[in-house]
Amino acid sequence: MPEGHSVHRIARQFDRNFVGRPVTASSPQGRFTEGAAVLDGRTPTEVRAVGKQMFLEFDHDIWLRVHLGMYGAWDFAGEILVDPTIASSNGRMGQTNQRGTQLEEPILDSAGENSLTSIGAPRRARVHVRMSEQTTGLADEGDQWPPPVVGQVRLRLLTDVTCADLRGPTACELQTPEEVAATIAKLGPDPLVDDVSEGEERFTSVVRRKPTPIGLLLMDQNVVSGIGNVYRAELLYRARQNPHTPGRDVPEEVVRGIWRDWVRLLSIGVETGQMMTMDDLDPDAYRKAMASRDDRHWVYHRAGLPCRVCGTEIVVEEAAGRKLYWCPSCQR
Ligand SMILES: [Zn+2]
Repeated sequence: MPEGHSVHRIARQFDRNFVGRPVTASSPQGRFTEGAAVLDGRTPTEVRAVGKQMFLEFDHDIWLRVHLGMYGAWDFAGEILVDPTIASSNGRMGQTNQRGTQLEEPILDSAGENSLTSIGAPRRARVHVRMSEQTTGLADEGDQWPPPVVGQVRLRLLTDVTCADLRGPTACELQTPEEVAATIAKLGPDPLVDDVSEGEERFTSVVRRKPTPIGLLLMDQNVVSGIGNVYRAELLYRARQNPHTPGRDVPEEVVRGIWRDWVRLLSIGVETGQMMTMDDLDPDAYRKAMASRDDRHWVYHRAGLPCRVCGTEIVVEEAAGRKLYWCPSCQR
């Protein structure tokens, strides 16, 4: 499931490639035909990401709300302007170019987590991409324009040069400005949207009132926006916090620490495209961790393996229908 960093990256792609350019909108799959007809011919004017949801404003106060849910993904094709912060963060990890003029090669995760073309559930194979700066790791399926529709495309947005296909979202609907405001008002703070200090106060006061286990509160989008299964497990481990402790019993400084850590991890995630949750890695370990999901987490997806710190077996259990990984020794 895409976590908050992916949605912010998607929003950046829309900002660079769609805002200010009129679009042709369609619903090849047929499940968003009326909505697409309303959007057709309009120009996106603003994009906002809050937690796991994206809001794209079109002229005349029409908003598109998209929640990718478990299986949704956006695929971009055509001439894609890469966000310079994304490009530079990729470049930073590549080999140094002496003249510094050439984009360095990004480290692409084999699972496609940081693919520039498919953000959300990994679906790399279906895209045709022609990018001005780099095409590393992307299949070239020819020069057809617009690209052929593949699979169940709920919504296709097309400018003269760029195509975005939405598949499998949990929510794809039009909203009025009032409805957007009401949707956002219900969401917990997002470090990249809200004032970080105010967000910390809101998060801390809500968590410290609740009898709900902290491991569930972190996944509650009304408490804090954007955290999913991976970040939840990793934040709790980094805080050495037992996931079962009721929110109100977690010491205030620990709650504040978790918020500040989320602020840090989210910005790393947006920059690199990966949920990098380990720090202080040497360059070799960092490169390895960027290339392979199994090498960049403390506890996530490590059930039965020894804790990287204490050697205790990492356990996994079901929490609100999602797998929760933690170390029973470090997180007492
Ligand atoms: Zn441990």
